[in-house]
Amino acid sequence: MAAFCQNCGNALHPSARFCTGCGGVVPMATAIPGRPLLRPHVGRVIGGVCMALAQSNGWDVAVVRILAVVGFFCSSGLVGVAYVAAWIGIPEEMAPYPGPYPGAYPPQM
Ligand SMILES: [Zn+2]
Repeated sequence: MAAFCQNCGNALHPSARFCTGCGGVVPMATAIPGRPLLRPHVGRVIGGVCMALAQSNGWDVAVVRILAVVGFFCSSGLVGVAYVAAWIGIPEEMAPYPGPYPGAYPPQM
């Protein structure tokens, strides 16, 4: 999911706060309509669970990550167990690149 600056149309990193082209402030992430709960490839840190929760609910990714880390230590690891469970349970986003499935036969060079 690519984001673009509203001022100059420059492509933005999903977690960018400021535009690299014009320096404009990027508005807070909003919920992507109809986006299912999927772990994205772009912008993930560990398993993409925080990113998936933030994108599907319109939360700020940084806030979700901070709460996850704080919650991990405050809950004596319970959040860590929940993270691993979500990592297993939340399906991964489709590969963002075209071409044959990795490992397809015959091998593509
Ligand atoms: Zn811009």
